[in-house]
Amino acid sequence: MKTNASTTVAGETLKGGRMTGRESIVALRGARIGVALLAVASALLGPGAVPVGAAAPPRIVTLSFDDGRASQGVVDGLLRPRHLRGTFFIISRSVNTGDDPDSLSWDQIRRLARDGDEIGGHTRTHPHLPTLSRAAQVDEICGGRRDLMAQGFRPVSFAYPYGEYDATTEGVVRQCGYGNGRAAQGGVEDVPAADRFAVRTLENVTMADTPASLEAQTWAAKPGQWLNYVFHDIGGPTAFNDEYRITAKDFTTFLDWVRHQRDAGRIVVRTVGQMVH
Ligand SMILES: [Zn+2]
Repeated sequence: MKTNASTTVAGETLKGGRMTGRESIVALRGARIGVALLAVASALLGPGAVPVGAAAPPRIVTLSFDDGRASQGVVDGLLRPRHLRGTFFIISRSVNTGDDPDSLSWDQIRRLARDGDEIGGHTRTHPHLPTLSRAAQVDEICGGRRDLMAQGFRPVSFAYPYGEYDATTEGVVRQCGYGNGRAAQGGVEDVPAADRFAVRTLENVTMADTPASLEAQTWAAKPGQWLNYVFHDIGGPTAFNDEYRITAKDFTTFLDWVRHQRDAGRIVVRTVGQMVH
């Protein structure tokens, strides 16, 4: 097979190039070396493997979970066996203290942190921040961070409710001691992020997504770029009864893909705080 390929390549070269005898021998050698290199490359990569240049940096994937919804209680058990870590953005005054069964409990959130997940702030009550006075924004953003600190966390990452913010909001987030502010749109992010107080995310995951559509978003990014996947409900339908959910089956399939690509060196998985802090 190698000989045939070499002959064919050399034949085409000779036909079009009108080379001297010496040049044609050089071309033939070159073609043989090229075929040999291809054979080595395909042997290393294995059948069906995506050829990735050795110099291409991996894409960076972040798994974010917003609002501390009760259905995220399954996430800890799904991330651990895959050695993955996520970032959980908590609405501090929604955490279940007996009156809100739709929220994770502080015990569940503490366990996530113990297991290596990042706990970030998402205000006290999830308001439309730019509609509030500066003082009210301070109460929501700094107050939410204080609530988390009172539970023993040291949050560095903040996510804007509804992805809504303006220059005042960004300034308050910074003054409250956060190291970054995460939006809820914008697409693929660069490294480093252009504005650490306006970190871009992919479109929030909804019922319209499939594992294939989520995976395609990673490959659409350039090597070295950062993809923030934002999840809300896992499974359901839940009390929120909105479109921001993914079935447990699809979520598990996606996590298996993330683990596989991570193990193959094509992506790395980082928390928001590991990327901007
Ligand atoms: Zn939210």
